[in-house]
Amino acid sequence: LSNFPYQKVLVLGLAKSGEAAAQLLLDSQVPFRINDLTKLEDNEIAQKFNSEGVEVITGSHPFEVLDGIDLVIKNPGIPYDHVIVEEAIRRNIPVITEIELSYYLIDGPIIAITGSNGKTTTTTLTYELLKAGGLDPLIAGNIGKVATNVARQQKDKQPVVMELSSFQLKAIEDFKPDIGVLINITEAHLDYHKTMDDYVSSKLNITKHQSQDDVLIYNADDDIIKDGIKQSEAQLTPFSVSGLNQHGLYVSEGTIYERQDPIVKREDIALPGDHNLENVLVGIAIAKRFAISNQKIKSVLKTFTGVKHRLQYVDTINDRQIFNDSKATNIQATLKAINAFNQPIVLIAGGLDRGVEFDELIQSFKNVKGCIAYGQSADKMCEAAIRQDFHSIYKVDNLQKATNKAYEISERGDIILFSPACASWDQFKSFEERGDMFIQLVHKLY
Ligand code: ADP
Repeated sequence: LSNFPYQKVLVLGLAKSGEAAAQLLLDSQVPFRINDLTKLEDNEIAQKFNSEGVEVITGSHPFEVLDGIDLVIKNPGIPYDHVIVEEAIRRNIPVITEIELSYYLIDGPIIAITGSNGKTTTTTLTYELLKAGGLDPLIAGNIGKVATNVARQQKDKQPVVMELSSFQLKAIEDFKPDIGVLINITEAHLDYHKTMDDYVSSKLNITKHQSQDDVLIYNADDDIIKDGIKQSEAQLTPFSVSGLNQHGLYVSEGTIYERQDPIVKREDIALPGDHNLENVLVGIAIAKRFAISNQKIKSVLKTFTGVKHRLQYVDTINDRQIFNDSKATNIQATLKAINAFNQPIVLIAGGLDRGVEFDELIQSFKNVKGCIAYGQSADKMCEAAIRQDFHSIYKVDNLQKATNKAYEISERGDIILFSPACASWDQFKSFEERGDMFIQLVHKLY
């Protein structure tokens, strides 16, 4: 850590990001203290730092943990009404996350991507495009790669593609990306942010410190974003899926253009669904900034089928295309997946019963010809189907039976879509484990 202006730091919360921050401070010989709720005897990470001579306060959050501190690094998930965060703000102590810390380390272009939806897809696509362009990018942030750890591995000014959440962006002091991206903003995480204003201004922090040397790629179809970036000093690159704005990247008659330059036809893009067009336009805008050729951009878009578990193409078996959308843990996400196809769909759905009703989902079943409901919420789905007069629904107990049944009732030309509309925890540890199981089951259909 060079030019680090703080004298004594508090690391609040020892999850993955807290551990990485603490390790960096230790290795950089910056004085710091740790405060974590898990008691020392059950807290292996705290024990590790304790044995290195770090002051560790566990089991509670007394205000004294802030004495002598001039910077707090908190886990992004810790809310702002946490006692220590509130007290730190009262004492005018800056509160950051390890994203800000990584900013002191990264030497090379930072591309930071945020939005309510599409962050992981866009971040991954950007990484693939830069790689195809002969660069050696790194990927970091909310995507499950702790930014300080990535920054410490960076060599030769490798570009860093960062996915940033509103939680991370709320805690920004000086951080600024060379290329910032605002994909879209819809209402989300109000339990954390309390107000929509706070959520929006956190997202807009991505451009807060940008200057004329930096670039902001933004969704020109999104009124909240258009309104919010008026103060931005960055060079603006708009994108528009609706085609209403034809200045930067836009779609016109099934072709994507950058200004007057036709880049790629919609039909040559492997990512399904109109929602993914936003992500594609952003990816192209970034690739163009790095002078990557249309040819290379096209070849990536032709083969990039998405991120695992997000409307991910799995296989085609006897003319049935099969997709894994295990990340769809609520009804809205499954509606999007259904709308991504024109072909008849056999849908597999179900999982944890959170007490929600599924009528809205069933009402959207225009091209869903059959639904296999499994898991804890299967009964609720069947009840909604009866209410909505949809009769082609089958209840089974687990994903294996559901996959087999879906294949059995499908015909050539159909889509088999696993988009559960429910969390996974009734039968799986995570949506990732559930999606991996589905992929395995699909391969057993042969
Ligand atoms: P995030 O990282 O922001 O959660 P992901 O790329 O993981 O986003 O996508 C999660 C889900 O959000 C996808 O399965 C899809 O249903 C939906 N989605 C992806 N991109 C967009 C977009 N640009 N607009 C709206 N919904 C999207």
